[in-house]
Amino acid sequence: MTDSSRPLKKALITGITGQDGSYLAELLLEKGYEVHGIVRRSSTFNTDRIDHIYIDPHDENARLFLHYGDLTDGQNLTNLVLNIEPEEIYNLGAQSHVRVSFDSPVYTVQTTAVGALNVLEAARQLNRKQAVRVYQASSSEMFGDVVETPQTEKTPFQPQSPYACAKVYAFHQTVNYRNAYDLFACNGILFNHESPRRGETFVTRKITRAATRIKTGLQDKLYLGNLDAKRDWGYAKDYVRGMWMMLQHDTPDDYVLATGETYTIRQFLDYTFGYLDLDWSEYVETDPRYFRPTEVDLLLGDYSKAKNVLGWEPETSCKELAELMVDHDLELARDEAARRAPA
Ligand code: NDP
Ligand code: GDP
Repeated sequence: MTDSSRPLKKALITGITGQDGSYLAELLLEKGYEVHGIVRRSSTFNTDRIDHIYIDPHDENARLFLHYGDLTDGQNLTNLVLNIEPEEIYNLGAQSHVRVSFDSPVYTVQTTAVGALNVLEAARQLNRKQAVRVYQASSSEMFGDVVETPQTEKTPFQPQSPYACAKVYAFHQTVNYRNAYDLFACNGILFNHESPRRGETFVTRKITRAATRIKTGLQDKLYLGNLDAKRDWGYAKDYVRGMWMMLQHDTPDDYVLATGETYTIRQFLDYTFGYLDLDWSEYVETDPRYFRPTEVDLLLGDYSKAKNVLGWEPETSCKELAELMVDHDLELARDEAARRAPA
């Protein structure tokens, strides 16, 4: 694993406590990196997704280090970047929920757009002293009201939410810093990617949590919004590998990561409830609260560039993804049911 004859490569991850940050930290530790992560101070612990890889920093084997910070605090980010001196920075932190971005548009822009600019500025300062490579977590949501299908790196952006507008800003600043300052900066335009660590208010995880709780008698109903939207859903573990591959390439560029297949929410319901021998139509009801003022109807990515240039390909189908999420959440539901059972 680690080659003791050369110094460890250092990476800094914003959003390390999120779904992708946790998988990326695991991958980089496996590859022998020293990994630094920025965490937000909160009144309760927010490190559940990385607790299993954290060891006390006093331990001589420790290679994962956490630092308090916030994307909206540019001074703090610059101090951290200049002190840590990472070779690679992965900016995964964001207010990442599209529906929430309609409720909190200004906060979303501060975190997701200005936050990304803060990271680029910090990297630009470090880049004057030593080479640094930056990954920006761009999103298929930027395609919004899509003008062509499938979407590629050349498809124009027509953002349909405050979140998507913020991501478009961050995308263009990343390209601008690459051109203006010769910074090695890449945009990964990632289509939806999910896992057992996906936040529970995103539709896939909301469905797998509810289906398994219904199966175990803990819940009767599942309230959802638009069931007709189509998404290109992949597995987060496959996608963090692609992020890393972008930063190992000779030249910086922008890449779509996707599966090349798209499914409706109804089809995802078929997969999850069907896997549990349940008929979802008996349990699912519509709640207009979950509709969005503007919806993205169809996302379908073409990942040919990532395949041809980086050799990246997804390894997990949407059906396999649904099943691995259900397997995980069924365990959680069974544990919950056991805790509730009278002694
Ligand atoms: P998550 O929502 O799971 O994680 C977001 C992370 O950002 C968390 O660690 C969160 O911290 C952190 N964060 C939020 N606000 C701030 C802030 N102000 N300062 C510092 N950190 C902050 O997202 P994912 O892991 O799913 O996604 C990773 C990135 O990829 C995000 O930028 C997302 O927008 C983007 N993306 C995701 C896609 C997906 O399908 N998952 C698709 C395309 C792009 P905390 O734990 O404290 O909340
Ligand atoms: P997004 O593609 O980044 O917005 O990821 P989400 O998982 O939040 O939403 C995917 C799709 O599911 C969108 O088209 C939503 O409108 C649709 N959807 C339907 N019902 C729900 C729901 O209850 N919650 C969420 N989050 N999305 C829902």
